[in-house]
Amino acid sequence: AVRVGVLSLQGDVREHLRMLEESGATAITVRRVGELESVDALVVPGGESTTIDKLSRAFDLRDPIRQRITEGMPVLGTCAGMIMLADRIVGGIAGQQTFGGIDMTVRRNAFGRQIDSFETDLEVDGLDEPLHAVFIRGPWVESCGAGVEVLATVDRGEAGVHPVVVRHGPLLAASFHPELGTDHRLHQMFVDDVRARA
Ligand code: GLN
Repeated sequence: AVRVGVLSLQGDVREHLRMLEESGATAITVRRVGELESVDALVVPGGESTTIDKLSRAFDLRDPIRQRITEGMPVLGTCAGMIMLADRIVGGIAGQQTFGGIDMTVRRNAFGRQIDSFETDLEVDGLDEPLHAVFIRGPWVESCGAGVEVLATVDRGEAGVHPVVVRHGPLLAASFHPELGTDHRLHQMFVDDVRARA
């Protein structure tokens, strides 16, 4: 089985471990460089991107993760994890850094205060049935480069239509929380891609 790590500095780690196991992967927590070195792929969970950024530096994981991304390690980032995979962010705090890798600009807390949490059934390219998506103070993709595939968008009326699932080579990112609930199809898509690249 492919071995997939979940970056376990902060955020909803357990739910991702379960989804990955249900998708046929061996899932482990990653808090140290040695653990990072042992995995074929990584999930960066939702939580708080400013905290994940700070802790990844405190745990000396930031540079090794950036290095692995440069070498082509597949990564799935959800919500705060999507922010961590963005080359550029809007609405970050002073000094906030990301791992980068996806040629996109994301807007943090993009959906606004009144509607910052909501659920919707989302059409995702590559999935035959809509995916129930739970958004919790998530980002959206403000703009992305030509190499980035948009797999799903959300229409916020006057606020516009924005990508919420994107893929850039081995990197997959979602604005919402596919690890909540029982539907593991997005994780399955990721694990299948990891296996195909292994
Ligand atoms: N708003 C959070 C951030 O900026 C993300 C929220 C989440 O992951 N649920 O990191």
